[in-house]
Amino acid sequence: MAEVMGFQKIRIVLVETSHGGNIGAAARAMKNMGVSRLYLVNPAEFPSAQATFRAVSAGDVLEGAVVCSSLAEAIADCSLVIGTSARERKIPWPLIDPVTCAEKTLEMNHQGAETAIVFGREDRGLKNEELQNCHYHVNIPTSGDYSSLNLAMAVQVICYELVNQSGLPLPQESWDQPPASAEDLNHFFEHLERTLVQVGFHDPDNPRQLMSRLRRLFYRINPDQMEMNILRGFLTAINHASSQDTAALPVDNTKE
Ligand code: SAH
Repeated sequence: MAEVMGFQKIRIVLVETSHGGNIGAAARAMKNMGVSRLYLVNPAEFPSAQATFRAVSAGDVLEGAVVCSSLAEAIADCSLVIGTSARERKIPWPLIDPVTCAEKTLEMNHQGAETAIVFGREDRGLKNEELQNCHYHVNIPTSGDYSSLNLAMAVQVICYELVNQSGLPLPQESWDQPPASAEDLNHFFEHLERTLVQVGFHDPDNPRQLMSRLRRLFYRINPDQMEMNILRGFLTAINHASSQDTAALPVDNTKE
């Protein structure tokens, strides 16, 4: 049997699951593979008899589940967020397969940093704005005829690859700074948007895809905490310079 110990820094996040039975089946799939940390964002029915029934011997995973009221709360302290998606999206995002998902997740786990693998609703999957909180999207390859797996089966495949890849040696890359968390990144994006509006580069009434594209850029770079601090300081300097400029501008008397 493959090494199944040591997935402590890995959490499975289920967003707005409708059926308690799927939560139970997902918990069972996790426990079979040695993954124990379950986060539920606004589940429609939980706890439920169906969840307990379908979990069979994984009742402990359900009992330990953390219920959150938003995705942001469920992933706040995560340095790597991977969203699952059954289909292509409007803005393409870095897309990986379950093996690469496992490799990246195991590497983070090995470094002691938190990873969330996020699963969507049974009927609609994850919304675009939720997927834009992710470093990567993972797709389970399927027949072209029907790409959408049952939620718990998707959890099973992703967790199985964690076990499957966990016997392989991990790359020994070391970094001088801890990775930025989802919360750090979201604060940075808020600050960036405010600043872009302030300097007149971004019109919130005509946003086009500007913030989505910038989110994608920074998730792709995957900044560390020090780099985030530098960028926040840089934005603050722009905020100050820009408000002084505005104050120093001569009053325009030529307008009616
Ligand atoms: N109809 C939805 C799919 C929902 S399936 C849609 O078109 O997006 C429920 C969840 O199972 C998805 O949100 C995703 O988390 C997971 N899932 C199902 N099929 C998948 C696949 N092929 N690859 C990755 N995740 C998948």
